[in-house]
Amino acid sequence: MTAGCTPCEMEALEDAAVVFRDDLWACEVLDGFDVPGWFVLRVRRHALRIGGLSDAELATYGRRARDLSAAVSEVTGAPATYLLTFGEANPHFHTLVAARGDEVPPERRLGGIMQQRTDRLDRPAALALVPAMAEAYARHAAR
Ligand SMILES: [Zn+2]
Repeated sequence: MTAGCTPCEMEALEDAAVVFRDDLWACEVLDGFDVPGWFVLRVRRHALRIGGLSDAELATYGRRARDLSAAVSEVTGAPATYLLTFGEANPHFHTLVAARGDEVPPERRLGGIMQQRTDRLDRPAALALVPAMAEAYARHAAR
């Protein structure tokens, strides 16, 4: 845990925001990114960027991303689910798994998706998806 690191501090998030946590990875709804259908997949230790991941973390990341993406698609019905990793503002490795629903206008699709932080934040609606996400993720991960 590194002070001032947002992904590290997510360890303290309330249970209502947690889709899953296992030994290596966690997925939660993050305040400030709580657009309904957005979830943060993060490595649970302070590892910098993808180059800082261990072999075990690298070997499991793809499955976590796949199963979360499947759960987001299933729970939200969104026709596209984005996986976004910038590694700049918060270099602790994480990926934003973001539903892109039909309601998202063309200028807010693809790289414009982050603009939704200015007009679609809705924490109660984002948290309301967590129980269904947890169930769907567990089912996909058990395959
Ligand atoms: Zn960190």
